[in-house]
Amino acid sequence: MKLAGWGRYPVAGAQVYRPEKLAELAAVVTADSTNLIPRGCGRAYGDAAINDHNRVVDLQRLNRMLAFDPETGVLRCEAGVTIAEIIEVFLPRGFFPPVTPGTKFVTLGGSLAADVHGKSHHRDSSLARHVLSFDLMLASGEVRRCSREENADLFWATAGGMGMTGVILQTEFQLSRVESAWIDGEVVGAKNLDDVFEAFERTEKDYHYSAAWIDCTTSGASLGRSVLHLGNFAPPSAVAAKRRANPLVFHPRTKAAVPFDFPGFALNSWTIRGFNAVYNAIHSTTGKHLLVDYDSFFYPLDSIHNWNRIYGKRGFVQYQCVWPPAESRAGLIETIEAIARRGGGSFLTVLKKFGPQEGMLSFPIPGYTLALDFPVADALFPFLNQLDEMVLKRGGRVYLAKDARMRPETFRAMYPNLPQWQSIKASVDPNNRFSSSLARRLNMVPA
Ligand SMILES: Cc1cc2nc3c(=O)[nH]c(=O)nc-3n(C[C@H](O)[C@H](O)[C@H](O)COP(=O)(O)OP(=O)(O)OC[C@H]3O[C@@H](n4cnc5c(N)ncnc54)[C@H](O)[C@@H]3O)c2cc1C
Repeated sequence: MKLAGWGRYPVAGAQVYRPEKLAELAAVVTADSTNLIPRGCGRAYGDAAINDHNRVVDLQRLNRMLAFDPETGVLRCEAGVTIAEIIEVFLPRGFFPPVTPGTKFVTLGGSLAADVHGKSHHRDSSLARHVLSFDLMLASGEVRRCSREENADLFWATAGGMGMTGVILQTEFQLSRVESAWIDGEVVGAKNLDDVFEAFERTEKDYHYSAAWIDCTTSGASLGRSVLHLGNFAPPSAVAAKRRANPLVFHPRTKAAVPFDFPGFALNSWTIRGFNAVYNAIHSTTGKHLLVDYDSFFYPLDSIHNWNRIYGKRGFVQYQCVWPPAESRAGLIETIEAIARRGGGSFLTVLKKFGPQEGMLSFPIPGYTLALDFPVADALFPFLNQLDEMVLKRGGRVYLAKDARMRPETFRAMYPNLPQWQSIKASVDPNNRFSSSLARRLNMVPA
């Protein structure tokens, strides 16, 4: 069948398997056939979970919760369990995922394979930091337990390794304790880039979670105008009086759906400019108090089903990069100016602060990260290649879970641990049975 990532670009045909039992999965993995890549909810934007003319194994049916210790908050579950399911079961008990991306419709296996980050990376790091162990099915069908003590190299090659070392079967990881389903925080308007950096640094000791929406249509003194959202899980005393009896209960609802593919012209630079102006007008009051449910705070886009259709049939690319601390300001200016020269482009632009790197190929490094959406268009890829060069020159890198078009030489230069990762990959999968469209495009495993 035809498959794509969330960006709907590129599309590739593959044979898809949906095992429900480990024995069925083992038969797929060890079959003498074309190569294979695991897939979760398909929320990676580009070609990480597709495999042109080869095989894909969808793990969503291996989704049993296996054990939970309410004393420690340690949960063991199969890789197909989603963050949404974990929240549904464990938030009422006072626990929340330690790290969550901007959508809850992702599996644990996919999240660990991309070593995802959330709005608290500078405090909590990425998901791997909270994983105690996982079981990995290798190309031979053998299952290896991986942790910091046992098969440690394989642990660090798999977290962030984009499904290329084997199939994550189950993981044991630490949930965080929370006292309510509500986020208590602040919305801070920043009039330009200096303002937003100052606000990130000034508020980081008070707030666990932070992310800024940047208006990329601005220039001059207002270049980088942003709205910074800051928050902590609220204590029950801060929750609205009528919710205080059950502060851990909140049921999110999907509010809308995009019923068809928008035509390409719907998202021109004027609609983007209009969206950003309206968004800033609403949120520009500095220090506005925020008390919202967790779903609106962490997953604002999940309330609109299929929002990826607004970019039209050709799909879109999310470009997410990170710069080291000393280069973040200059890198951002350079990027926003380049987008302005191109005539605009990004509808949703998010800025976050990062802490240290975990896995060998994990994306986060200390610094600031920017995520930009671009509808696929004729001259887009040469432009993104230019952005790559600017990011690379400043010691930064691009996120594999969002990528659909980076060049192999750029990837090699951005990920200096690649040779170490390649030798571990070769030791567990000498015939390169696990491969994806992304892996071949980036030449992750040289022939
Ligand atoms: C709206 C939106 C917001 C997002 N926000 C963020 C964010 O804030 N931070 C962030 O880090 N990411 C973010 N992402 C990206 C997303 O979190 C990652 O791409 C994640 O990997 C998707 O999980 P999935 O289950 O959909 O996996 P897929 O997209 O299906 O697969 C992703 C990768 O994981 C591998 N994989 C999947 N399952 C397994 C398994 N069981 N064993 C081994 N490998 C496996 C695949 O081979 C592939 O390489 C966002 C995506 C969307 C659509």
